[in-house]
Amino acid sequence: MSGAASHPTLAVSGITVRFAGLTALDDVSFEVEPGTVHALIGPNGAGKSTMFNVLSGVYRPVAGSVSFGGVELVGLPPHAIAGLGVARTFQNIALFPAATVEENLMLGRHHLTRAGFIGAGLRLPFAIREDRRHRARVTEIAEFLGIGGLLQLPAGDLSYGDQKRVEMARALCVEPAILLLDEPVAGMDAAETGQVATAIRDIREGLGISILLVEHDMGLVMGIADRVTVLDFGRRIADGAPARVRSDPEVIRAYLGTGHNGAAAPAATPPSASSPPPVPSPADASPAWAWNENEEPPS
Ligand code: ADP
Ligand code: MG
Repeated sequence: MSGAASHPTLAVSGITVRFAGLTALDDVSFEVEPGTVHALIGPNGAGKSTMFNVLSGVYRPVAGSVSFGGVELVGLPPHAIAGLGVARTFQNIALFPAATVEENLMLGRHHLTRAGFIGAGLRLPFAIREDRRHRARVTEIAEFLGIGGLLQLPAGDLSYGDQKRVEMARALCVEPAILLLDEPVAGMDAAETGQVATAIRDIREGLGISILLVEHDMGLVMGIADRVTVLDFGRRIADGAPARVRSDPEVIRAYLGTGHNGAAAPAATPPSASSPPPVPSPADASPAWAWNENEEPPS
């Protein structure tokens, strides 16, 4: 895989999506710089998955543009967008459970094979050589994500956390320039979350691939994101460095307003040595900081 320098910027500009009277995204703009981890966060229903579906060509916005290295993605079908190096994972696991991990990962490379299934089925020498080369790359990517020992197991037999890592590996098998991850740690315990956080860091640092991470748990993204964009009811309410976004009164209000349980976590987390303590405005201080995250928020 090539270095970060060759990877393009993903520029999202003025994206608006409507579903029968509901504005799911309202004039949203942000830029994912090459080789960075960019988090798109917000409470449930904020429009994060909708943005994902726009970026990957599943939904067509009524307005706005998505430019990837100067190429307009709006209007392109999903396979064309994938072909430009934009790979995604889904919020719900989408693996073939009866197939082995290796077979699932090989599917990620299908578009890179020249022999195709017929050539491979006939065991033509060229196809055999090509197959061997792809299997070696699949093994390399699996080992990189710490799932090298699971390649011959049926994907459906793996733990939830391992399946999520297989999905990330499959997306990497496409050799993308940018990886879109939709809630990669949803439903995971602390140990599994830690493994995924490490994998995301390794992908950025080891492969130089940009990552757009959609997450509703602010706690996770604060540790690994270079930049954070916050959505609420389809609108962008904040965009910037994690420490600044975390202390933004409007962000705190958005998370509290939904009653989402992860909301108080970033506020309750002691600030790290590298970031200054967030300073809430007096009006927001009492609900944001006094609320125990294990309790229901005040209504
Ligand atoms: P998030 O991923 O941030 O939780 P979504 O992007 O899934 O939010 O949803 C944003 C809003 O758009 C929600 O109000 C949701 O109900 C609505 N929505 C999403 N997809 C559709 C759809 N296909 N049809 C109608 N409404 C939708
Ligand atoms: Mg979602």
